Amino acid sequence: MATLLAIIRPGGRTQRCDARCYDARKGSDCDCVCSGVNHAAGRDVAMILTRQQVQAWIAAAREADPDIDHIEIGLEAQAIPLF
Ligand SMILES: [Zn+2]
Repeated sequence: MATLLAIIRPGGRTQRCDARCYDARKGSDCDCVCSGVNHAAGRDVAMILTRQQVQAWIAAAREADPDIDHIEIGLEAQAIPLF
């Protein structure tokens, strides 16, 4: 399961955007850090959407919760394919 984005809060509380989000059924509930953008999008599309929007999601998360410990962006979601 590829984690696209993980927001880690004090005490280890973690919010992730991963397969539970991008492989979810369309129309099911979503309270993900991606604000539902990747919800039911499938892994490949979610990867592209995450590359495009991850900085905005991080900014929104930091604004909502300044106590965030750290943030991890999945390696695949960081990489820009050369070909
Ligand atoms: Zn998500």
